[in-house]
Amino acid sequence: MPLTLQRLTILGSTGSIGLSTLDVVARHPEKYRVYALSAHSQLEKLVEQCLQYRPRYVVLADPSRLLELRERLSVAGLADIEALAGQEALEYIASHTEVDTVMAAIVGAAGMRPTLAAARAGKRVLLANKETLVMAGRLFMDAVREGGATLLPIDSEHNAIYQCLPQPFGDSADQGVRRILLTASGGPFRGYTPKQLAAATPEQAVKHPNWSMGRKISVDSASLMNKGLEVIEARWLFDLPAERISVVVHPQSVIHSMVEYIDGSVLAQLGNPDMRTPIAYGLAWPERIDAGVTALDLFQIARLDFEQPDTERFPCLALAFEALALGGAAPAVLNAANEEAVAAFLDGKVGFADIAKVNAATMRQVAVDFDANSLESLTAADAAARRFAVDWLADAVR
Ligand code: NAD
Ligand code: MG
Repeated sequence: MPLTLQRLTILGSTGSIGLSTLDVVARHPEKYRVYALSAHSQLEKLVEQCLQYRPRYVVLADPSRLLELRERLSVAGLADIEALAGQEALEYIASHTEVDTVMAAIVGAAGMRPTLAAARAGKRVLLANKETLVMAGRLFMDAVREGGATLLPIDSEHNAIYQCLPQPFGDSADQGVRRILLTASGGPFRGYTPKQLAAATPEQAVKHPNWSMGRKISVDSASLMNKGLEVIEARWLFDLPAERISVVVHPQSVIHSMVEYIDGSVLAQLGNPDMRTPIAYGLAWPERIDAGVTALDLFQIARLDFEQPDTERFPCLALAFEALALGGAAPAVLNAANEEAVAAFLDGKVGFADIAKVNAATMRQVAVDFDANSLESLTAADAAARRFAVDWLADAVR
């Protein structure tokens, strides 16, 4: 049977996930064609990618540099690539009729609207942008169902769980799933004392021991907010209550997550920590393709360790469970506060310990005023949370 080409939009093509996606795609030119690329503002990288992948569209989130992008494309002999800018253009390439698959790899709440557009348009959605599910879990899952989209999780833990669940996955209780176990590396500050945590710098926070990732998710991994966001992500992806989601610290990051069944079986997915594995899985599902990832050498790894997470030192993980218990817009508020807190921390304006503090204060103060029934309400919750968090952080400035 002749293979049909999958036409692909990559939202956030200049980021860590975007680059890994292009790396996998380049290994299989007979299977995948890049239809559209997008980035926030990194023109040079984007033009380089256009030269290599020849998309039909290229979109800049920031419209102020659109003319410059067009000029550069023209100079590079790429004037036939249509360059667009802004939010609507992102939604346009995410839902275009000629697109089969959308890699949602924008970082943060900015990724929500184009990811929703892809779901509504019934695309195969490769979801890296976990913030979409954290902010608008119910709305997004409804959009996937109503749009007839195929949702494949790219976050390594959720991809692992997806691989360990029965397929097709329906009602977890009927299918004998007792709980899922999300593994966490513990991040670069796993062994730190509270005093060391208070003095931790952005440079230390972005040096993850096992994974190479964007700066925001790296800080989230250091605070365990990333694992908290992933608990919320799992709640929606797999329709499981918080009581059936556990977190296990596993410093080697070899087991990417596990599913426990009622007969006592625990299924795990293992691999080297390389995002090209879940990306290739999402691209090729239900088949498998080469991802360029080296084979796992168990003898070199030699041992696997497990620990309880410490929510005293890393309160952000507990905050995520609290957000699920509060329900409504609480996860969206927590997410927005955290984005502001991480940005302020990376700018050197506040300390590492302030991240958890502002997240807790914002969630408890702002969340009650909003519900999660509409995009408008969630957008308003996001904005109110950012205002509250920015004020709080200004008072906390060192
Ligand atoms: P990154 O910072 O490396 O890249 C982010 C991409 O989004 C860039 O292309 C950037 O140009 C674009 N972008 C940034 N702000 C934007 C905006 N306002 N509008 C439009 N585009 C914007 O981030 P990353 O590490 O690749 O992570 C991307 C997403 O994938 C995040 O949601 C993250 O949580 C998730 N994720 C990443 C990893 C990883 O290993 N990097 C693993 C699991 C999940
Ligand atoms: Mg993850």
